[in-house]
Amino acid sequence: MKIGLEIHVELNSKSKIFCSCATQGSNVPNTRTCEICLGMPGSKPSFNREVLHKALKVALALGCKINKESFFSRKNYFYPDMTKNFQITQYELPLAENGKFEGINIRRIHMEEDPGALIHFGSITLIDYNRSGMPLIEIVTEPDFKTPKEARTFLNKLITLLEYLNVYVREEETTLKADANISLEGGERVEIKNVTGLREIERCLEYEAKRQEIELATFKETRGWDAEKGVTYSLRKKESENDYGYLTECDLPMLELSDTLLNEIKKEIPELPNQKIKNFIDKYKLNKDDAEVIASDLKLAELFEQISHKIDAKIAANYLRRDLLGQLEYNKLQVKDLKIGEHGVKDIGVMLNLYQKNKINNNILKTLTIRLIKEGKIGEIKEQVSDDSQLKKWCKEAIENNKSVVEDYKKGNENSLNFLVGYVMKLSNKSANPQKVREILKEMI
Ligand SMILES: [Zn+2]
Repeated sequence: MKIGLEIHVELNSKSKIFCSCATQGSNVPNTRTCEICLGMPGSKPSFNREVLHKALKVALALGCKINKESFFSRKNYFYPDMTKNFQITQYELPLAENGKFEGINIRRIHMEEDPGALIHFGSITLIDYNRSGMPLIEIVTEPDFKTPKEARTFLNKLITLLEYLNVYVREEETTLKADANISLEGGERVEIKNVTGLREIERCLEYEAKRQEIELATFKETRGWDAEKGVTYSLRKKESENDYGYLTECDLPMLELSDTLLNEIKKEIPELPNQKIKNFIDKYKLNKDDAEVIASDLKLAELFEQISHKIDAKIAANYLRRDLLGQLEYNKLQVKDLKIGEHGVKDIGVMLNLYQKNKINNNILKTLTIRLIKEGKIGEIKEQVSDDSQLKKWCKEAIENNKSVVEDYKKGNENSLNFLVGYVMKLSNKSANPQKVREILKEMI
């Protein structure tokens, strides 16, 4: 099996690629438009420098060779989401070529504009041009993937890299689209167009692999993906790129990139995920698994680095993975939803110090973590009760109220002791030191 991807990434520049309309803001249809992104006669595009910078950052981080001269072309086709009847893209000479990432060869990276969005209501179709002119880069890989899973893993790592570069915002996966091509040995290549999100890309490839196993593709074909039914369907026999009749975009100048600019952009590239993982292992002495999980999200990685100034790195890593991520998942939240400021980081340090000294128990840690997630800080911390006289009072009450359980324990049932410890924890409103409670109960019975 051979799989290749053409990945469309929406860059997070402030304005669109060829006009000054905002990329974010009102979602009321057709409010972020102008004569340029509506393709009105006589309007002329001008190229957004921020888009170029972000695209170059990606190309350099993926180890591509940059074409110091490149240009835009018009890809001609008629469709209602494309009022000019052509899309401005790069074809003959892309921005960058021949890169490599996670063992997969990158054939090319080029920049282009997104068309508008068609919205279907039964037999009626509406068009929203807010998306028209949104800045895209297309990353084209060689057909180097051998399984759908490999493709998904690659995309996951690519997204993390794009976030580190601050060129992309991971929302609900909907801003990442891909055309996926797949062929089985001896068969022709089938391309599946416009699949949205990582999970869908993997699913459609799995379906298509099974379909071709039963019936090998005998001609080149373009197919669509019906996510609801979980099937691909034929769109057309594959058109070739020549069918679009590309013309040079004469309203935009040739792109000429100076060494000074490229060097400037190289300097802007921060520490990337793989380097971070290495650092976490070498400098912070984390195990590989912890390092990979924490580095897989820039916000989490930064939080870890901040906390590690205040407490042992392994304790910090353990806390983030087990407690914080666990609570986030339980509450169906993500790391990006956290709003932990400087104060919150300080609080985490204090809390973990107390935990390490056994002054707060797991229950208290959990309660404080929930508060941290909700409020971004922890505030006052009540330590657990380790005072013998108070603990003895609770233990006495537990023994008196559970005589049959005590008898069970005396007969050798260890579980009965756990029940009694739990009873004391309830009496203490979860504030008792559970190890001490256990010791005292043993002494008293
Ligand atoms: Zn516009």
